[in-house]
Amino acid sequence: KRRIAVLTSGGDSPGMNGSVRAVVRMAIHNGCDAFCVYEGYDGLVQGGDMIKHVGWEDVRGFLSEGGTLIGSARCMAFMERPGRLKAAKNMIVKGIDALVVCGGDGSLTGADKFRAEWPGLLSELVDKKELTAEQIKPFEHLNIVGLVGSIDNDLSMTDATIGCYSSLARICEAVDSVDTTATSHQRAFVIEVMGRHCGWLALMAGVSTGADFIFIPESPPGADWQDEMCKIVKKHRSMGKRKTIVIIAEGAHDQQLNKITPSQVKDLLTKKAGLDTRVTTLGHVQRGGTPAAYDRMLATLQGVEAVKAVLDATPETPSPVICMIENKIVRRPLLEAVAQTKKVAEAIEAKDFDKAMDLRDAE
Ligand code: ATP
Repeated sequence: KRRIAVLTSGGDSPGMNGSVRAVVRMAIHNGCDAFCVYEGYDGLVQGGDMIKHVGWEDVRGFLSEGGTLIGSARCMAFMERPGRLKAAKNMIVKGIDALVVCGGDGSLTGADKFRAEWPGLLSELVDKKELTAEQIKPFEHLNIVGLVGSIDNDLSMTDATIGCYSSLARICEAVDSVDTTATSHQRAFVIEVMGRHCGWLALMAGVSTGADFIFIPESPPGADWQDEMCKIVKKHRSMGKRKTIVIIAEGAHDQQLNKITPSQVKDLLTKKAGLDTRVTTLGHVQRGGTPAAYDRMLATLQGVEAVKAVLDATPETPSPVICMIENKIVRRPLLEAVAQTKKVAEAIEAKDFDKAMDLRDAE
């Protein structure tokens, strides 16, 4: 009988609860025991009551709740081997042999590292007489499965991450609200949205709200962007538009990697384009609230697939991450997806923006 644990880690995203519910119920449906680990890797390192055996009814109502009801954390202890050693012991004490992690690329990297170290951690626990050889015997192999919970939609090899469509919907609602007041006063608004290396939210929010200009990290504007932006904005005004919306990702920069800030854009629109301009930073509103239908569906289908992946796993199978590609739920090697994601940030650092965009487009 498999004993499968699920945890949520890193920044929360709407839909994480749906994935916890799906993992727990699919595990029970398949005759496995299900566990929730509270407060991300912190719970694994602390053990005890932080790792709870859960039943079908324990995840009732999770599907429509935002955030993560089992908590999330950034856990420094898990970054170091002694922390992971404690985590391994706690898992064995609870009899857990499979772990489903819902989080961003950092959380998934940590999970895969844990799996790679697993045999060494077990030997160390026996050497230190914390566990006996008998106790570790049934736990020779650890299965890890990743689910991508992130509002940024920043992981390569998946078309959508759990939470990104809820966040996009929330941004669109906020821009629509700003639109009405902007139109009344013929104002311009510079709206900052989340996304340090990934401009998906900014780009899709711009497309979905008909923004006048968009700044994203992967495709920075040309050297004369200041003139270009003002020209475009003025043209739209001359065509009768009573408002101006510029959407800027928090990681926006020019081609020399100089940061482009909302206040800099505001000054330009005020002084060069002659517009009464305000800045709105959406902040954590983008992360919170009820998950959109798409994220509930994605979380559920991916949670189900995560349990199937645990049941199918062999010692040779690389840890998978569950992805959505062209509307199909598929498994991809976790480390490859994380490595490709890192390459996008590296291409941006190297000012190779064509490569950054190609990598974003690649499966
Ligand atoms: P977000 O996209 O919101 O930043 P994330 O999962 O990338 O989410 P991180 O803060 O990078 O968030 O990672 C969350 C936790 O995962 C860390 O606090 C740490 O406990 C664990 N972790 C991250 N990277 C590693 C690593 N290289 N080795 C071990 N553990 C790690």
